[in-house]
Amino acid sequence: MIRYALECLDCETGFEAWFASSDVFEKQAEDGQVTCPSCGGHTVRKQIMAPSVRPSEKAGAADPERVFGKLAARARQHISENYDYVGDGFAEEARSMYYGEREHRPVWGETTAEEREALKEEGVPAAPLPPAFVPPKQKDTSKLN
Ligand SMILES: [Zn+2]
Repeated sequence: MIRYALECLDCETGFEAWFASSDVFEKQAEDGQVTCPSCGGHTVRKQIMAPSVRPSEKAGAADPERVFGKLAARARQHISENYDYVGDGFAEEARSMYYGEREHRPVWGETTAEEREALKEEGVPAAPLPPAFVPPKQKDTSKLN
């Protein structure tokens, strides 16, 4: 079902009506089967379309948190697939890449507040990840065994 906000061209009254589909509306409007509740006129046009959705869907579609959650999930996925997790070695990694001691590659990891400050002072590009973008920790295999 689709709800249309309609406008009567005869008396300029706005009203709403439900239709099975947009095609049904087009056909009924063309055939003069849509009646203005105010003056009984049959010359109507659409104002704004408001597709009807079930409450659960509506909540999902309009809920910014869920939209953000999906984006965040994608970001997490991207980071965990393309970035190397270097744990608390991040500052060192970032610094050696910055000074050309190591090849550039995308990494993520943790820094202490001091390290973060030092990186910033040295001009090493690093940005904090929003918590929602942080992927689950990868196991540091070098520390096993
Ligand atoms: Zn009317």
